[in-house]
Amino acid sequence: MSVRVRYAPSPTGLQHIGGVRTALFNYFFARASGGKFILRIEDTDRERYDPRALQDIYDTFDWLGIQWDEGPRAGGNYGPYFQSERTDLYREYAQKLVASGQAYYCFCSAGRLEQMREQQALEGAGQGYDRHCRNIPPVEALARKEKGEPCVIRLRIPLEGSTGFHDRLIGTIERANKDINPDPVLLKSDGFPTYHLANVIDDHFMEITHIMRAQEWIPSGPLHVLLYQAFGWETPEYCHLPMVMGDDGQKLSKRHGSTSLIEFRGGGYLPEAIINYVSLLGWSYDDSRQMFSRSDLEQLFTLDKLNKAAAVFDYKKLEWFNGIYIRECSEADLARRLLPFLWEENLLGNPPSAREEKTLLDSIPIIRERLHSLADAAGLLRFIFGDAPDYAAEDLLPKKTSAAEALRFLEEIKNLMPGFFDKTDEGNEADFRALSEKLGTRLGNILAPLRVAVTGSKVSPPLFESIRLVGKEKTLARIEKAAGILSKAAG
Ligand code: GLU
Ligand code: ZN
Repeated sequence: MSVRVRYAPSPTGLQHIGGVRTALFNYFFARASGGKFILRIEDTDRERYDPRALQDIYDTFDWLGIQWDEGPRAGGNYGPYFQSERTDLYREYAQKLVASGQAYYCFCSAGRLEQMREQQALEGAGQGYDRHCRNIPPVEALARKEKGEPCVIRLRIPLEGSTGFHDRLIGTIERANKDINPDPVLLKSDGFPTYHLANVIDDHFMEITHIMRAQEWIPSGPLHVLLYQAFGWETPEYCHLPMVMGDDGQKLSKRHGSTSLIEFRGGGYLPEAIINYVSLLGWSYDDSRQMFSRSDLEQLFTLDKLNKAAAVFDYKKLEWFNGIYIRECSEADLARRLLPFLWEENLLGNPPSAREEKTLLDSIPIIRERLHSLADAAGLLRFIFGDAPDYAAEDLLPKKTSAAEALRFLEEIKNLMPGFFDKTDEGNEADFRALSEKLGTRLGNILAPLRVAVTGSKVSPPLFESIRLVGKEKTLARIEKAAGILSKAAG
């Protein structure tokens, strides 16, 4: 039997870490076992449907480089892959359950259900549907329905016994039938299915072999098993994944930081880092190995290595992976990936000029080690691509140096600059050393105002390289500007 697994998002919100983890595990399991990975869009909740959420599913997985074998855009023999295009099937199968007596029509109005809930709340009594319509004789129910009375279809949950299933990770999960959601709706009055009905019918007809999904779906498990039994179908194998938590032991949420993929992408995370880190949330290869590329996981992933325990999402750890993957990029590749972040800050033309492109490429070696994320680049490169930095006179002063002295240093440096760009770093260093001797001060003291003048900061990448990247014209103008500020300060 060949493996067929699916990711079945509802397009109601942005793709987040938990969903992506589910998708990746299904995808890697399919790849590693020579099976198929299916994307199915569970879009039957028309009120919560959001077309941007659908686009976000495509964008997220395109960005991660994850392709499904069957589903929207890919096609396949088990479609359509949008539940909203499969409603005839759901209606037909809901009817079958009514015909066999395993489901029934319920005519309760919204008003009656509301009253029922109020009454239950007052009495502190049981929750859920009171099975009011469960015993309407089928002939009568059919007649009412035929006359056009609005109705839903509910599953007749047995009042006795219990229902269970085996979860590959968690073991046996068993629930007394009387504790299962009493007679849940399968088909709504608008003819649309509920999640339970559509999900079970699709998993069956799409021949899904393993259901890997978040643990929050465990409570639905027994109900789904009852549905499989009602249809006389075999249940797939279940594997509910451990929760992803924040560092406080609560389910990962916005309170902890970014959770949607679009935020991580915008924050300058590499897809390689996300894939690697997210794959370790509830899975491990062995006790030590941490680095996994997408293609490693496509080969190595097995269900046996899933962990039962909840996984803690560690933002620092993700950042650490990100730094590693940033350092693994070739210079040209990294430069290309930085473009959108530099455009966002208006630091480069779109497309960049040939000169900008070259400068960017040349600046990679001096910033690469300092990048935790691609988004850090704009701050580090602003002095190269942006306007002259801002600073006050005191920023330009080395320790125990007056404005007049610092001004003198800069005036002398100005004389060196015309030759600077034609010399090697060694040649320039010799010039600056000679100058420091002439001025009777340490080399550091004359480089300090120069550094601030050109880069706007007391700590910058290596100074001579920074100056070369800024270029002659801008460097001279910045020294001029700094000299002006100092001369004002000197009075
Ligand atoms: N549409 C459900 C969700 O959004 C699918 C759950 C399942 O995998 O069965 O998570
Ligand atoms: Zn009813």
